[in-house]
Amino acid sequence: MIDLRSDTFTKPSQDMLKVMFDAKVGDDVFGEDPTVNELEKKCAEMFGMEAALFCPSGTMTNQIAIKCHTQPGDEVICDKVSHIYIYEGGGIAFNSGCQVKTISGVRGLITAEDVAGAINPDDVHKAHTSLVVLENTGNRGGGSCYEIEDILQIKEVCQANNLKLHLDGARLFNALVAKKQTAREYGEMFDSISICLSKGLGTPIGSVLLGKRDFIKKARRVRKVLGGGMRQAGYIAAAGLYALENNIERLAIDHHHAKQIAEALLNKDFTGKMMPVETNIIIFEVLAEGGAAAFCERMQKYNILCLPISATQVRMVTHLDVTNDMIGEVVEAIAAF
Ligand SMILES: *Cc1c(COP(=O)(O)O)cnc(C)c1O
Repeated sequence: MIDLRSDTFTKPSQDMLKVMFDAKVGDDVFGEDPTVNELEKKCAEMFGMEAALFCPSGTMTNQIAIKCHTQPGDEVICDKVSHIYIYEGGGIAFNSGCQVKTISGVRGLITAEDVAGAINPDDVHKAHTSLVVLENTGNRGGGSCYEIEDILQIKEVCQANNLKLHLDGARLFNALVAKKQTAREYGEMFDSISICLSKGLGTPIGSVLLGKRDFIKKARRVRKVLGGGMRQAGYIAAAGLYALENNIERLAIDHHHAKQIAEALLNKDFTGKMMPVETNIIIFEVLAEGGAAAFCERMQKYNILCLPISATQVRMVTHLDVTNDMIGEVVEAIAAF
């Protein structure tokens, strides 16, 4: 099977498994797991941020950040297709007691002007706006990427209005590679950043939350309350360390593969609107009868799995378990339609 449904379907390689088996571990709730401590330190240094916290999932790192940056009754600003809003089970209300003001951005990307217009005035009728969350790359935006300049402008609006700025960077490394940006630039712009190790970086589990020392101290308490305090977590943190060493630069290959698939699709009459392919995600519209479901069924006959994300839209995601040869097969299957 060639699984293009998501980059979360990657399985740990033999080399990754070996470092996991060999990891030195301790009880991380006591702060005594040397491998977790090493991962947190490495991530913080990479981004030039003060501290980091290893968590089981990106949903947890996002939700902890939202909890730490807000008070119940506050309002959070984000794009209407952002993961925190549509894919985290209503967690903003459930965990933080906050409401959301959504922005209709372009491919999940919002602007400083959007943010400025969404901030509530200091008025007893209005919820207190306290947090802005950006997503880079934008998942439902088809792996869309921000320009540094645009984030800097958003940061300026946040600072002028006393708002915190959080980044859902589940696929931030894809953006860094595609746009030739650096982790340090991001560390300077955001109050907190969430990165996932279990997407394109290929670990079986794990996300990291980054921020100031006080913020991470508070975040560690919230992680415990949510049941996310793990014990000998070094076995999975070791996979993260391996991934940061070995699996970042190779994301360029995934991006190249995605462009190859996009090209094959654009040669076909059944392909409707396609979002610009900037990283490892392809989202396009199927014009042929049967729509997205029929397309995915047909691909499955070639042992290729794709994800229908609406009646007419299909998503394909390239990742480190999809080889050159597999891309050749996908391109051939599309050409044969
Ligand atoms: C995958 C993802 C997350 C986190 O998901 P988990 O499955 O909880 O790790 C957060 N944001 C975006 C944009 C994602 O794609």
